[in-house]
Amino acid sequence: MSDIRDEVAAGFEEIYGSSPLGVWSAPGRVNLIGEHTDYNQGFVLPFAINRRTVVALGARDDGIVRVASAFADEVAEIALADLTPDRLRDWSAYPLGVAWALGQFGADLGAVPGVDLYIESTVPVGAGLSSSAAIESAVAVALDEVWRLGLPRETLARVGQLAENKAVGAPTGIMDQSASLLGRHDHAVFLDCRSLESELVELGFAAAGLELLVIDTGVSHDHATGGYAARRASCEKGAALLGVPALRDVTVDDLPRARAVLDDETFRRVRHIVTENQRVLDTVRALRTDGPLAIGEYLDASHVSMRDDFEISVPELDLAVETAQANGAIGARMTGGGFGGAAIALVPSEGISRIQVAIDGAFAEHGFGQPTTFTVTASDGAGRD
Ligand code: ADP
Ligand code: MG
Repeated sequence: MSDIRDEVAAGFEEIYGSSPLGVWSAPGRVNLIGEHTDYNQGFVLPFAINRRTVVALGARDDGIVRVASAFADEVAEIALADLTPDRLRDWSAYPLGVAWALGQFGADLGAVPGVDLYIESTVPVGAGLSSSAAIESAVAVALDEVWRLGLPRETLARVGQLAENKAVGAPTGIMDQSASLLGRHDHAVFLDCRSLESELVELGFAAAGLELLVIDTGVSHDHATGGYAARRASCEKGAALLGVPALRDVTVDDLPRARAVLDDETFRRVRHIVTENQRVLDTVRALRTDGPLAIGEYLDASHVSMRDDFEISVPELDLAVETAQANGAIGARMTGGGFGGAAIALVPSEGISRIQVAIDGAFAEHGFGQPTTFTVTASDGAGRD
């Protein structure tokens, strides 16, 4: 981390001609299990990863905010008092949307000092590892401190979500920001997306001789359009037809009744959410009682449910999962919103290279672009560096 921290400070100086006041960072996340359950007020079990987005911040004595990123050429600039979601576009809608959203949670944007921001990241973009939550959370903790807001982490997660929903226009849930803000070394964040209560659950991968391999298929998704919104709409329709506030309120025992009430497609969308919620609970229990070797079956079942019932997988993700399973993984599943992005596989340390070679070979054989594979460890959440 120290490399990118020095780099981001140097980058800041190059762009703005002065030293930053400080450097803050926030991690991407991987979702161990619990996919599309967040906006159904259910359960998720993500963890913060050792890939971070770093923001250098300098204070200004006017009400202007400027933001630059190694990711982009232009420097975006706007007066804080003029921030509205409809004025924000492209990548800068993420950091500037957070500044606007802090205003919605009590910051007086007419009174707080302006800031210059410069951002670098080691979170791959669009891989399902939530570079979006990483940039939102890094900016949120930085502005919260510099503007002396003192907002709790749970509130900062809602700030990031509001920015993403309103300024970016992606109807995503609260999971990613919660993981990025609440994560802890060697722990997952077990989050109840209805109450927003969370508990840390020890993972113990290293102690069990396991590593989590991420297979980034390179197939990019776009949450702001298409499939994600359609799945969300199906879930809302299913809940309405079943007469519940959210699919959280449907249990596995209710599924026979749901099948009688719903059309086949809506039923399968509902069944994914209902069984996925149960798998999160089962995974948490298994981690606590038997350790990580016991969670493979839930990861595998989660993938099948996303592939067949929720229909958000793509051939590259299915191939990554099947190849990992066939070559010694404890369990594997696609992760993130779907339609591309990454799969994860829980793998014995000594089997990592064998699985990587097998996946590269399988992708080549199918004429797919080469995936990027790397391991991640569960890491601390956002903070000042
Ligand atoms: P994911 O969160 O899975 O990586 P998203 O589509 O949700 O993918 O978010 C990716 C978008 O977030 C990028 O296209 C870009 O607009 C913005 N973003 C992420 N990281 C950065 C960064 N370091 N600098 C600028 N923009 C970023
Ligand atoms: Mg995202």
